[in-house]
Amino acid sequence: MGEGGMCYTRGNDERITGQRRILLFGGTFDPPHVGHLTMAQIAYEQMGADEVWWMPAAKPPHKAEIGVDTFAWRYRMVEALLGARRHMRVTDVENRLPKPSYTVDTLRALIRAHPDVHFLFLLGADSLQHLPEWHGAAELCEMVRFVVARRPGYDFDTAAATARARLPHLQMDVIDMPMLDVSSTWVRDRLDRELDVCGLVPDPVLAIWREGPKGGMTRECSGGTSS
Ligand code: ATP
Repeated sequence: MGEGGMCYTRGNDERITGQRRILLFGGTFDPPHVGHLTMAQIAYEQMGADEVWWMPAAKPPHKAEIGVDTFAWRYRMVEALLGARRHMRVTDVENRLPKPSYTVDTLRALIRAHPDVHFLFLLGADSLQHLPEWHGAAELCEMVRFVVARRPGYDFDTAAATARARLPHLQMDVIDMPMLDVSSTWVRDRLDRELDVCGLVPDPVLAIWREGPKGGMTRECSGGTSS
Protein backbone atom coordinates (compact mmCIF):
# COMPACT_ATOMS: atom_id res chain seq x y z
CA MET A 1 0.00 0.00 0.00
CA GLY A 2 1.27 3.50 -0.78
CA GLU A 3 1.64 6.15 1.91
CA GLY A 4 -1.54 7.35 3.61
CA GLY A 5 -3.43 4.24 2.55
CA MET A 6 -3.45 5.29 -1.08
CA CYS A 7 -2.24 3.29 -4.04
CA TYR A 8 0.20 4.83 -6.45
CA THR A 9 0.36 3.74 -10.03
CA ARG A 10 3.79 3.14 -11.47
CA GLY A 11 2.68 1.77 -14.83
CA ASN A 12 0.62 3.66 -17.41
CA ASP A 13 -2.48 2.81 -15.46
CA GLU A 14 -4.80 5.51 -14.21
CA ARG A 15 -4.22 6.54 -10.59
CA ILE A 16 -6.84 5.10 -8.32
CA THR A 17 -7.00 6.21 -4.72
CA GLY A 18 -8.38 4.23 -1.82
CA GLN A 19 -8.33 0.94 -3.69
CA ARG A 20 -6.00 -1.97 -3.09
CA ARG A 21 -4.11 -3.00 -6.22
CA ILE A 22 -3.86 -6.75 -6.51
CA LEU A 23 -1.75 -8.40 -9.15
CA LEU A 24 -3.27 -11.75 -10.11
CA PHE A 25 -0.96 -14.37 -11.46
CA GLY A 26 -2.66 -17.36 -13.05
CA GLY A 27 -0.82 -20.41 -14.27
CA THR A 28 -0.47 -24.14 -14.08
CA PHE A 29 2.74 -23.92 -12.04
CA ASP A 30 3.74 -27.50 -12.80
CA PRO A 31 6.17 -26.83 -11.20
CA PRO A 32 6.59 -23.13 -10.34
CA HIS A 33 10.10 -21.83 -11.11
CA VAL A 34 12.26 -18.74 -10.66
CA GLY A 35 10.97 -17.31 -13.96
CA HIS A 36 7.52 -17.10 -12.36
CA LEU A 37 8.90 -15.66 -9.15
CA THR A 38 11.02 -13.04 -10.90
CA MET A 39 8.21 -11.78 -13.11
CA ALA A 40 5.82 -11.63 -10.16
CA GLN A 41 8.29 -9.68 -8.02
CA ILE A 42 9.27 -7.22 -10.76
CA ALA A 43 5.65 -6.67 -11.81
CA TYR A 44 4.70 -6.12 -8.16
CA GLU A 45 7.36 -3.44 -7.85
CA GLN A 46 6.81 -1.75 -11.20
CA MET A 47 3.02 -1.68 -10.98
CA GLY A 48 2.99 -0.46 -7.39
CA ALA A 49 0.82 -3.40 -6.38
CA ASP A 50 -0.14 -4.07 -2.79
CA GLU A 51 -0.05 -7.85 -3.14
CA VAL A 52 0.37 -10.65 -5.65
CA TRP A 53 -2.23 -13.43 -5.61
CA TRP A 54 -1.00 -16.57 -7.32
CA MET A 55 -3.86 -18.60 -8.79
CA PRO A 56 -3.01 -22.15 -9.78
CA ALA A 57 -5.47 -23.29 -12.45
CA ALA A 58 -7.61 -26.21 -11.36
CA LYS A 59 -8.36 -27.52 -14.82
CA PRO A 60 -6.78 -25.39 -17.53
CA PRO A 61 -9.01 -25.54 -20.63
CA HIS A 62 -6.02 -25.71 -23.00
CA LYS A 63 -4.38 -28.52 -21.07
CA ALA A 64 -6.75 -31.46 -21.30
CA GLU A 65 -4.01 -33.79 -20.12
CA ILE A 66 -3.68 -32.23 -16.70
CA GLY A 67 -5.38 -34.20 -13.95
CA VAL A 68 -7.74 -32.30 -11.67
CA ASP A 69 -6.24 -34.05 -8.68
CA THR A 70 -2.87 -32.36 -9.12
CA PHE A 71 -4.31 -29.07 -7.88
CA ALA A 72 -3.43 -29.51 -4.19
CA TRP A 73 0.08 -30.57 -5.08
CA ARG A 74 0.70 -27.59 -7.42
CA TYR A 75 -0.84 -25.28 -4.80
CA ARG A 76 1.64 -26.56 -2.20
CA MET A 77 4.53 -26.05 -4.58
CA VAL A 78 3.54 -22.42 -5.12
CA GLU A 79 3.22 -21.97 -1.37
CA ALA A 80 6.74 -23.35 -0.95
CA LEU A 81 8.07 -21.06 -3.70
CA LEU A 82 6.64 -17.98 -2.00
CA GLY A 83 8.19 -18.89 1.35
CA ALA A 84 8.10 -15.93 3.71
CA ARG A 85 7.21 -13.29 1.10
CA ARG A 86 4.39 -11.52 2.88
CA HIS A 87 3.29 -9.53 -0.17
CA MET A 88 2.51 -12.71 -2.11
CA ARG A 89 -0.01 -15.45 -1.46
CA VAL A 90 -1.60 -18.36 -3.22
CA THR A 91 -5.35 -18.69 -3.64
CA ASP A 92 -7.44 -21.77 -4.37
CA VAL A 93 -10.20 -19.69 -5.96
CA GLU A 94 -10.03 -21.57 -9.27
CA ASN A 95 -10.45 -24.89 -7.50
CA ARG A 96 -13.60 -23.64 -5.80
CA LEU A 97 -15.22 -22.45 -9.03
CA PRO A 98 -16.83 -24.68 -11.67
CA LYS A 99 -14.36 -26.39 -14.04
CA PRO A 100 -12.78 -25.77 -16.43
CA SER A 101 -11.10 -22.65 -15.03
CA TYR A 102 -11.94 -19.76 -17.30
CA THR A 103 -10.16 -16.59 -16.23
CA VAL A 104 -13.18 -14.47 -17.13
CA ASP A 105 -15.32 -16.43 -14.63
CA THR A 106 -12.63 -16.19 -11.98
CA LEU A 107 -12.37 -12.44 -12.45
CA ARG A 108 -16.13 -12.02 -12.25
CA ALA A 109 -16.15 -13.93 -8.96
CA LEU A 110 -13.18 -12.03 -7.55
CA ILE A 111 -14.60 -8.62 -8.46
CA ARG A 112 -17.88 -9.56 -6.81
CA ALA A 113 -16.09 -10.73 -3.66
CA HIS A 114 -13.66 -7.77 -3.53
CA PRO A 115 -15.39 -4.65 -4.83
CA ASP A 116 -12.71 -2.50 -3.19
CA VAL A 117 -9.87 -4.03 -5.21
CA HIS A 118 -8.34 -2.93 -8.51
CA PHE A 119 -7.17 -6.13 -10.20
CA LEU A 120 -4.27 -6.44 -12.61
CA PHE A 121 -3.46 -9.70 -14.39
CA LEU A 122 0.09 -10.88 -15.00
CA LEU A 123 1.03 -13.07 -17.95
CA GLY A 124 3.93 -13.93 -20.23
CA ALA A 125 4.23 -13.02 -23.91
CA ASP A 126 3.29 -16.57 -24.93
CA SER A 127 -0.01 -16.25 -23.09
CA LEU A 128 -0.59 -12.81 -24.61
CA GLN A 129 -0.27 -14.43 -28.01
CA HIS A 130 -3.22 -16.70 -27.16
CA LEU A 131 -5.27 -14.13 -25.25
CA PRO A 132 -7.66 -13.34 -28.16
CA GLU A 133 -8.72 -17.02 -28.17
CA TRP A 134 -9.44 -17.16 -24.44
CA HIS A 135 -13.04 -17.80 -23.50
CA GLY A 136 -14.72 -14.42 -22.90
CA ALA A 137 -11.55 -12.50 -23.82
CA ALA A 138 -13.39 -9.31 -24.81
CA GLU A 139 -15.30 -9.20 -21.53
CA LEU A 140 -12.15 -10.00 -19.61
CA CYS A 141 -10.41 -6.98 -21.18
CA GLU A 142 -13.12 -4.74 -19.79
CA MET A 143 -12.59 -6.15 -16.30
CA VAL A 144 -8.85 -6.16 -15.88
CA ARG A 145 -5.64 -4.54 -17.02
CA PHE A 146 -2.87 -6.88 -18.16
CA VAL A 147 0.76 -6.77 -17.15
CA VAL A 148 3.01 -8.61 -19.57
CA ALA A 149 6.50 -10.10 -19.27
CA ARG A 150 8.51 -10.66 -22.44
CA ARG A 151 9.58 -14.24 -22.95
CA PRO A 152 12.40 -15.73 -25.05
CA GLY A 153 11.13 -17.38 -28.22
CA TYR A 154 7.97 -15.26 -28.43
CA ASP A 155 7.67 -12.17 -30.57
CA PHE A 156 6.17 -9.70 -28.15
CA ASP A 157 5.53 -6.91 -30.70
CA THR A 158 3.54 -9.20 -33.00
CA ALA A 159 1.63 -10.75 -30.11
CA ALA A 160 0.78 -7.29 -28.74
CA ALA A 161 -0.29 -5.91 -32.13
CA THR A 162 -2.48 -8.94 -32.84
CA ALA A 163 -4.04 -8.86 -29.41
CA ARG A 164 -4.75 -5.12 -29.66
CA ALA A 165 -6.32 -5.51 -33.10
CA ARG A 166 -8.63 -8.30 -31.95
CA LEU A 167 -9.35 -6.91 -28.50
CA PRO A 168 -9.92 -3.18 -28.83
CA HIS A 169 -10.45 -2.74 -25.07
CA LEU A 170 -7.19 -4.42 -24.17
CA GLN A 171 -5.11 -2.39 -21.74
CA MET A 172 -1.65 -3.52 -20.80
CA ASP A 173 1.68 -2.57 -19.34
CA VAL A 174 4.92 -4.33 -20.13
CA ILE A 175 7.35 -4.96 -17.32
CA ASP A 176 10.99 -4.17 -17.65
CA MET A 177 13.03 -7.21 -16.65
CA PRO A 178 15.70 -9.48 -18.11
CA MET A 179 14.09 -12.26 -20.14
CA LEU A 180 14.44 -15.63 -18.45
CA ASP A 181 14.54 -18.66 -20.66
CA VAL A 182 13.02 -21.13 -18.22
CA SER A 183 9.75 -23.02 -18.45
CA SER A 184 7.98 -25.69 -16.46
CA THR A 185 8.28 -27.94 -19.51
CA TRP A 186 12.06 -27.66 -19.45
CA VAL A 187 12.14 -28.21 -15.68
CA ARG A 188 9.86 -31.28 -15.91
CA ASP A 189 12.03 -32.77 -18.58
CA ARG A 190 15.16 -32.30 -16.44
CA LEU A 191 13.51 -33.65 -13.33
CA ASP A 192 12.04 -36.64 -15.13
CA ARG A 193 15.58 -37.50 -16.24
CA GLU A 194 16.86 -36.88 -12.70
CA LEU A 195 19.05 -34.00 -13.84
CA ASP A 196 20.01 -30.97 -11.74
CA VAL A 197 17.76 -27.94 -12.24
CA CYS A 198 20.49 -25.70 -10.85
CA GLY A 199 18.38 -23.58 -8.52
CA LEU A 200 15.72 -22.74 -11.12
CA VAL A 201 13.28 -24.50 -8.80
CA PRO A 202 14.13 -23.85 -5.14
CA ASP A 203 14.72 -26.86 -2.87
CA PRO A 204 11.49 -26.57 -0.82
CA VAL A 205 9.53 -26.77 -4.09
CA LEU A 206 11.58 -29.71 -5.30
CA ALA A 207 10.85 -31.57 -2.07
CA ILE A 208 7.11 -31.34 -2.79
CA TRP A 209 7.62 -32.18 -6.46
CA ARG A 210 9.29 -35.42 -5.42
CA GLU A 211 6.25 -36.44 -3.37
CA GLY A 212 4.24 -36.55 -6.61
CA PRO A 213 0.64 -35.38 -7.03
CA LYS A 214 -0.77 -37.99 -4.70
CA GLY A 215 2.05 -38.06 -2.17
CA GLY A 216 4.85 -40.34 -3.27
CA MET A 217 3.01 -41.65 -6.34
CA THR A 218 4.31 -41.31 -9.86
CA ARG A 219 3.23 -38.18 -11.69
CA GLU A 220 0.60 -38.89 -14.29
CA CYS A 221 0.43 -35.67 -16.18
CA SER A 222 1.94 -32.31 -16.99
CA GLY A 223 0.45 -28.92 -17.63
CA GLY A 224 0.77 -25.40 -19.05
CA THR A 225 -0.97 -22.08 -19.03
CA SER A 226 -4.22 -20.77 -17.64
CA SER A 227 -6.77 -19.00 -19.77
P1 ATP B 1 4.76 -24.93 -19.37
O1 ATP B 1 6.18 -25.02 -19.85
O2 ATP B 1 4.25 -26.16 -18.68
O3 ATP B 1 3.82 -24.44 -20.46
P2 ATP B 1 5.24 -22.33 -18.06
O4 ATP B 1 6.67 -22.30 -17.67
O5 ATP B 1 4.82 -21.53 -19.25
O6 ATP B 1 4.72 -23.84 -18.20
P3 ATP B 1 2.84 -21.62 -16.60
O7 ATP B 1 2.47 -22.04 -15.24
O8 ATP B 1 2.08 -22.15 -17.73
O9 ATP B 1 4.42 -21.93 -16.77
O10 ATP B 1 2.94 -20.04 -16.69
C1 ATP B 1 2.13 -19.15 -15.97
C2 ATP B 1 2.33 -17.77 -16.61
O11 ATP B 1 3.70 -17.38 -16.49
C3 ATP B 1 2.01 -17.72 -18.10
O12 ATP B 1 1.36 -16.49 -18.38
C4 ATP B 1 3.37 -17.76 -18.78
O13 ATP B 1 3.36 -17.06 -19.99
C5 ATP B 1 4.23 -17.04 -17.76
N1 ATP B 1 5.63 -17.45 -17.76
C6 ATP B 1 6.14 -18.62 -17.30
N2 ATP B 1 7.47 -18.64 -17.41
C7 ATP B 1 7.83 -17.45 -17.97
C8 ATP B 1 9.09 -16.87 -18.35
N3 ATP B 1 10.22 -17.55 -18.18
N4 ATP B 1 9.08 -15.62 -18.88
C9 ATP B 1 7.89 -14.95 -19.05
N5 ATP B 1 6.69 -15.44 -18.71
C10 ATP B 1 6.64 -16.68 -18.19
